[in-house]
Amino acid sequence: MKEASGKTVEKFADEALIEVSSGSGGNGCVSFRREKYVPRGGPSGGDGGRGGDVIFEVRRNLRTLAHLRYKHSFKAQNGRDGEGSQRYGRDGDDVVIQVPPGTVLKDADTGELIRDFGRDGTSLVFLRGGNGGWGNVHFKSSVNQAPRKALPGKRGELRRLRVELRILADIGLVGFPNAGKSSLLDRFTNARPKIAPYPFTTKIPNLGVLTLDDRDIIIADIPGLIEGASDGLGLGIRFLKHISRTAALAFLIDLSADNWHGAYDVLYQELAAFSPELVQKSRVILGTKTDVDGTGERLEALKAQYPGEQVLGVSVFSGEGIPELARIFGRLADSSREGDAGFGEKDEAGDADFSELREVPDR
Ligand code: GDP
Ligand code: MG
Repeated sequence: MKEASGKTVEKFADEALIEVSSGSGGNGCVSFRREKYVPRGGPSGGDGGRGGDVIFEVRRNLRTLAHLRYKHSFKAQNGRDGEGSQRYGRDGDDVVIQVPPGTVLKDADTGELIRDFGRDGTSLVFLRGGNGGWGNVHFKSSVNQAPRKALPGKRGELRRLRVELRILADIGLVGFPNAGKSSLLDRFTNARPKIAPYPFTTKIPNLGVLTLDDRDIIIADIPGLIEGASDGLGLGIRFLKHISRTAALAFLIDLSADNWHGAYDVLYQELAAFSPELVQKSRVILGTKTDVDGTGERLEALKAQYPGEQVLGVSVFSGEGIPELARIFGRLADSSREGDAGFGEKDEAGDADFSELREVPDR
């Protein structure tokens, strides 16, 4: 694709620049006991509290970095200063930054790789808060019964980070050219006011985010699947690689096209020939363009033809089946996330990189 389009292939599909800082430690306190009958009380200044840490936490329901682009600065709380009567200062609260699986952290200035969370990453304490300073209770000695010395807290650290995300798609749309893949993707990603049209830094026409009950489902429009793709013909082979990284598939069958009857079998054979694993994925069969006259009977025939499959009629134009499809996509994404198959141990090829799919015209 790189050659064909002349575009540079970018490795990452989503990224954000953020600034993080851990909390400073609180200062130690200088104070002396004041008690009746004790004319010169000993030192009683407590230690400062520890500053909060900067922690990254991988959340599997997150799929984009959109939330990091609206908030750039993350600061943990400072520790409180120590007080008299040997009271310690309170520790500062940590700041927790949630990121999706597939996130990579780099130093924004040097580009140095800090952490690749991959698909199964968990938490990372990235910056420790500064220790609190000692209060003067620590400095009492035989020669100095009344030390006026306490230590300041250690300062927190500040780092600028580039957060990058290799996008992992949940649902891949497959079908012949003109089956309605792009229209369906558009419908899901643009139609609802709740959804920012393209929550990616770079506009990626082939990826869309469907937000359902506070979680993101990534849908990939896999263009250009044609007969013979599994033999390496045409552009198809490149696209098949991408499909192999999605969690579930939606087969789009254009009910208004002449080949509606045989389309599913051809698509299925193509995928199976490329990799038997592809046809093991959860799937839904969609009869598209149900607003067109005569498609009603065809949809019924399709359902009868594949009694063991989930078959749904949809129309982007009339909206038929769209809400139900959203729920089905949600279930498909969930089932794969639970079993972890979506981020696949089976996917040895690494994370999906959809950048190659950009700017590629359908055939
Ligand atoms: P793709 O090649 O699979 O991405 O298909 P497109 O989304 O580009 O759609 C191909 C053609 O079908 C376009 O002219 C669309 O306007 C049309 N189309 C897509 N969805 C529908 C639909 O629900 N009903 C009708 N009547 N036409 C549709
Ligand atoms: Mg298209």
